[in-house]
Amino acid sequence: MRITADTTVCIGSGMCVLTAPEVFDQADEDGLVTVLLPDPPEELRAAAAEAARSCPSGALRVG
Ligand code: SF4
Repeated sequence: MRITADTTVCIGSGMCVLTAPEVFDQADEDGLVTVLLPDPPEELRAAAAEAARSCPSGALRVG
């Protein structure tokens, strides 16, 4: 799995952090997403994929 985030379209909603807090975080200064685990372990992959699906801005890509 390879997760990437486009911070130019992220709107800082925090849905990804709520859905997969081990995989995503938000920057303190602007709330934009950071990917903590671009290649998460098996047990976190379903949550990571769900986070990408639920992102309201389409900022997350899972490959
Ligand atoms: S769910 Fe999408 S828009 Fe919201 S913080 Fe995460 S990447 Fe950004």
